[in-house]
Amino acid sequence: MIPLIDTHAHLTEEVFRTRIDDVIERSNARGVAGMIVPGYTRDACFDAVRLAGEHPSIRAAVGIHPLFLTDPVNSPATDPIDELETLIDRTGVIAIGEIGLDYRHASADRDAQRIAFRRQLDLAMERDLPVILHAVRAEADLLDILRRYSGIRGIVHRVSCSLDAVRQLMKLKLFFSVGPDLFIPGRSRLHELVRVLPDDRMLLETDCPFSRGLRGDPSGPWDLPDVLEAVAGLRGDAPETLAASMNGHHALFGCWSQGRDVSTVC
Ligand SMILES: [Zn+2]
Repeated sequence: MIPLIDTHAHLTEEVFRTRIDDVIERSNARGVAGMIVPGYTRDACFDAVRLAGEHPSIRAAVGIHPLFLTDPVNSPATDPIDELETLIDRTGVIAIGEIGLDYRHASADRDAQRIAFRRQLDLAMERDLPVILHAVRAEADLLDILRRYSGIRGIVHRVSCSLDAVRQLMKLKLFFSVGPDLFIPGRSRLHELVRVLPDDRMLLETDCPFSRGLRGDPSGPWDLPDVLEAVAGLRGDAPETLAASMNGHHALFGCWSQGRDVSTVC
């Protein structure tokens, strides 16, 4: 089986921190050769970059999540988005993320989210890096903003948009990552989406340890083959065939994931 890449694994969380070698080993043993660790606060970004510097099978994304823009864990003395600039050039940073819009709470400061999102998209364009997008109940604004960034490359993580929004996002040449939400009962819209997404626009993730739908406690990148199997089952494909044809990593992350030989730092 072609090695898999978990495009969204929060390996900076406490539950993984003290046993990262075990996490990597256990994931490798199940065929998961590479893991992308997205930041979401200032601290998580620094941690993700540190992990990527220490482990060739880990790569980092740096970005401030829309729900953590004013989180106290971000240093009050500095602007966390300004600080990203100092991290981008470090070894192993291959994307800006996770960034986006999250309107699930009525109290969300939508203006602040849109401003922070655009600043980070500007940075991605400036540095020619792909973005890892988080979008919850914000389809219209997501599309409206992304349309202003011609040529932006990226993944819509844990995709939950309508089919119509996905079609619009496809026109912007974006990729979509599917995770363990598939296992949550009643997700028929997601199942429908998984059946129609083109192989080369679809990627896989666990979003561990925040995965819902997986039984493991905690869930980890080692659960990715279960996601692959579920996706393949919905599409009527063999998992091996599907894994081989999901080659969007190459377009997004270049040589690190090309041929999934993730032992090479580039
Ligand atoms: Zn995440």
